[in-house]
Amino acid sequence: MSTIAENIAKVRARIREAAHASGRDFAAVGLLAVSKTQSADAVRQAHAEGVRYFGENYLQEALAKQDELSDLDLIWHFIGPIQSNKTKLIAENFQWVHSVDRLKVAERLAAQRPAHLPALNVCLQVNVSGEASKSGCTPQELPALAQAVTQLPQLKLRGLMTIPEPTEDAAEQHAAFARLRALRDNLQLDLDTLSMGMSHDLEAAIAEGATWVRVGTALFGARDYGPR
Ligand SMILES: *Cc1c(COP(=O)(O)O)cnc(C)c1O
Repeated sequence: MSTIAENIAKVRARIREAAHASGRDFAAVGLLAVSKTQSADAVRQAHAEGVRYFGENYLQEALAKQDELSDLDLIWHFIGPIQSNKTKLIAENFQWVHSVDRLKVAERLAAQRPAHLPALNVCLQVNVSGEASKSGCTPQELPALAQAVTQLPQLKLRGLMTIPEPTEDAAEQHAAFARLRALRDNLQLDLDTLSMGMSHDLEAAIAEGATWVRVGTALFGARDYGPR
């Protein structure tokens, strides 16, 4: 077995155990493999193990990889910060976007999503840790943003995403993810998606209701940001 295959088996076992521990169905937790900075060959190895969903943060890198892997049946998710001048290529080349945090970006994605494609699945990124530096709308901004996004054509609002302040404290991890779930529930918009949990905290996220865990390092090893 390749290292990537071994890592995938380990991550799947972690997801299964966490789902079991909280009485949830393993199948209700999607594994989004975060392949930013990783090679097309690494994605190919993961695909060979049955991984279908890949998350990318950097548009140009993602488009090059998609091109190289166009023979595979992959579902691409955009999960990085979005500059408004990048929305057209994102709308054209991804099935999901997890990182919408302002109306202007949502409006552009809606206008630029090609009519022949199904609606773009969208999550609103929320900052649940309250740090000024992190992306994501505030919990206060969320209700109006969510309402507005549900009115846009060619977008399907699926749920919420968050990247909490990293912590090894399990109670703090749980609290942040529970906050995102409560924000989702309070919207009363019939949203089926909570995108939360990464390599170091996916157990807490699954316990609090994650439907996508976004996992990079635990699948592909440490990232080498090198010259890009
Ligand atoms: C890089 C990244 C991840 C994956 O993080 P790991 O700690 O490597 O699992 C998940 N979500 C987002 C938004 C990321 O940018």
